Amino acid sequence: MNHRAVIVFSIFTISVSYLIATKPPKSGATDVSNSSFQISATAKDTSITEAFVMGRFLPQMHVRFQLVPAHLCSKSMYLQKEVIVAFQQMKLAAASEGISLRIISGTRNFWEQKAIWERKWNANLPQFGASANNAREILKYSSMPSSSRHHWGTDIDINNLSPTYFTTGKGLKEVLWLRKNASKFGFIEVYSPRASGRLTGYEPEAWHWSYSPLSSQYLEYYNQNIQYTDIKGFTGCEWAKELRIIEDFVSGVSRK
Ligand SMILES: [Zn+2]
Repeated sequence: MNHRAVIVFSIFTISVSYLIATKPPKSGATDVSNSSFQISATAKDTSITEAFVMGRFLPQMHVRFQLVPAHLCSKSMYLQKEVIVAFQQMKLAAASEGISLRIISGTRNFWEQKAIWERKWNANLPQFGASANNAREILKYSSMPSSSRHHWGTDIDINNLSPTYFTTGKGLKEVLWLRKNASKFGFIEVYSPRASGRLTGYEPEAWHWSYSPLSSQYLEYYNQNIQYTDIKGFTGCEWAKELRIIEDFVSGVSRK
């Protein structure tokens, strides 16, 4: 290319770049729901550690986490900043169709999950004793500490924790809207109905939605790095291997 051609080509390239950069955004709720939103928002998390995926950190001290604005949730909680932005966009889109979404549970670190687990363990003692069946009973809906997706700041419970709430009326409308639209904002129903082909792990949880652009990275890291010897520090942890916590529960999820 001669000197003149280089100049002409450069002007052409700059003009095209300018046109792309200044293209006006579309207006309305669909603007935030297109797939480019997820692509531009999500960067690979290169800071993943074993301690992180097992929930052994303080969300309030973690650079990726932020207190969730009060109008998005029912109580004080932390989530990853990127997840808050995505949920906010999803909530707006839902509201424009008359659907109200509110986060009722966000991040729980190892020690918070341990408190929940051990409270349930102790409550089950009269019926099940200190046995694998005690853990099995808890595992219908609650995770062993070290294995909860709520550790990651990517997973949220929405509107109600009762399975029957989502089978009729308002709750049914909400979950049908989520099933149709949540993936546009990066959220997936990881504890999907058994009929969807998810055969192991927790009972279906229509309220639990996971921000997949990040949580898929953590699941992959978990499966590559965490051993049963890492799952420890709470009552009943010795049953983790027999109950196949990693294979059946951590990995017992729908991935889209
Ligand atoms: Zn949940």
